[in-house]
Amino acid sequence: MKANSRLREKLEPVAQVMGYVLKGHKAAFACMVYSVVILAVRPYVKVILMGYLLDGLAEGAGFPLLAGYVLTAFGIVWFMDQTGDAARQYYNQKMEYMSEIENGWLNRKAFTMDYEYLEDVHVQELRTRGERTWQGVACWTLLEFENLLRMSVSILTALVILLPLLLGGINGKGTVGSSAAAVLMILTIVIMMVFNYFKSVEYGKKSQEIFDHMGEMGNKERYYQDILATAESQKDLRSFGQQEAILRDLRKTFDKYRILSKDYGKVLTKKLVWDRTISDLSALIIYLFTGIQAVLGIITIGQVVTYASSIISLSSQVVLLATWLGNAERLFMLCGDQKKFMDLEKRKYEGKIPLEKRRDNKFKVQFEHVSFRYPGTDRDIIKDLNLEFTIGERMAIVGKNGSGKTTFIKLLCRLYDVTEGCIKVNDVDIRKYDYIEYCKLFSVVFQDFHMFAISVGENVASSVEVDEKKALDALDKAGMGGRIRELPQGLSTYVGTDFRPFGVNFSGGEKQKLAIARAIYKNAPFIIMDEPTAALDPESECDVYAGFDHMVGNKTALYISHRLASCRFCQDILVFDKGKVIQRGSHEELEHREGLYRELWNAQAKYYEN
Ligand code: ADP
Repeated sequence: MKANSRLREKLEPVAQVMGYVLKGHKAAFACMVYSVVILAVRPYVKVILMGYLLDGLAEGAGFPLLAGYVLTAFGIVWFMDQTGDAARQYYNQKMEYMSEIENGWLNRKAFTMDYEYLEDVHVQELRTRGERTWQGVACWTLLEFENLLRMSVSILTALVILLPLLLGGINGKGTVGSSAAAVLMILTIVIMMVFNYFKSVEYGKKSQEIFDHMGEMGNKERYYQDILATAESQKDLRSFGQQEAILRDLRKTFDKYRILSKDYGKVLTKKLVWDRTISDLSALIIYLFTGIQAVLGIITIGQVVTYASSIISLSSQVVLLATWLGNAERLFMLCGDQKKFMDLEKRKYEGKIPLEKRRDNKFKVQFEHVSFRYPGTDRDIIKDLNLEFTIGERMAIVGKNGSGKTTFIKLLCRLYDVTEGCIKVNDVDIRKYDYIEYCKLFSVVFQDFHMFAISVGENVASSVEVDEKKALDALDKAGMGGRIRELPQGLSTYVGTDFRPFGVNFSGGEKQKLAIARAIYKNAPFIIMDEPTAALDPESECDVYAGFDHMVGNKTALYISHRLASCRFCQDILVFDKGKVIQRGSHEELEHREGLYRELWNAQAKYYEN
């Protein structure tokens, strides 16, 4: 029972991967099965023909009969080859892009999984371990399935051919003794195979360990190669003279990789020596057995050839099968990883309540005794937070670095769910709302926002369909309209030169304005800006403040900054400290009140011209 459930645990992930593969590819899969069966059976046709020919010659059969044997056999082989090749070609064409197709289902999962999983290295490793192997898990599974099928069909065919020998009914001369000898011989071979299986498991484990280390080294190498290839990191490397340190580490990584790959080679060689020894020993036993049977006149010369070839083929396939089974753990593990990845819960999507559509954009937000710690950590970043605000207000969140301001936004936008307490929008726990609808409430300019290597218009509209008027209007509000209009390709200009040399490398501040325009274009009831002016020059920063009211209209705006002067224009300022709101009020009120705000204000006044 236990062994049963362990086997199910191993096979279910493989079945799941095969399920994804088969979706829309059933015909191609059937073609692959056909071509593999043909490939496995084909050699036996020739072996049988050889047996018939030799017996025919020995018995003095005439030319027409022998020619008939040859023509029939070659006719069958020709038909098999033609249909098998055609099936194989169809399969290859359809499956050529399997690794891209697999990426598709993994990406779809990554797009919709709970955000916190994306930041979890263990979760990411579930995906990348599969990606590091050859062409991904799906291709690997298909290849291993093919191998297993070929071996199984070959073994079955050999057994069918050998059945008369095993049953001792050859030429009516077979005895119980000869049949027992046949069984004994097969048993000896099987024992050798079982032994080989355990050897394969042992070597499989060793090579897996080495392979995993090689994967880690490979990741590191890729990381460095990426760094060395980008102009952005080269800036830092050059100004800090870090090239030598990186190259030294890269060399060390290469050296380790080389040693590991040598070890890997040694393990493979040892395994090969075992395989060959067992294979040769089996062949020796087989020839001895069939030779003795022929000498005793139990079987004919033709049968010696047919049986000996079939048994040799059987034994080599069983050796391969034993090796396959020994190595299958790796496949089970990779499919298991993928299943864990694909089956990750989507807790964020459990809510079903539709969001109330309000023309007046009046939403009330309440944080009730909210505490939060990041998964896998033991420190509360937000501690028993209570606050309430209403849409239409301009609210600023200020505080030192690391005080929990961005985390507060992540909780509000449901990138993470609270550890304790609850957040309500219009008196309903936000976890109960339909997640996709809830996300539409927010337009966020994150501190570490990302612009993509697509056109300006597509970036601003977050879509391939761009409402040009709306996009230019958003760009105008963000102070970037003029710059884009001046470009020969306007909204169609590509951001960056990654893929298109005629794209434009916008400056950090310009990209920040593009990100602000994207947030305005979305036209969500909440607009949230996390340090949105960090990369802007003072003039642009002033423009953002001055145009802020116009920019956000009747939306609720949350403005986060460690620079207090940036927040003066908000009526409602929350002062965060160690995950709590310790002060709240307008700038005028807080400036005259004893506390952190005044301390920070006075400290910053020395550095900034308020
Ligand atoms: P702020 O925006 O006020 O500068 P954050 O909310 O970004 O602060 O971070 C608050 C604290 O949470 C910091 O100490 C930071 O190290 C920690 N933190 C942020 N993100 C994560 C994360 N994904 N996992 C663990 N800790 C994190």
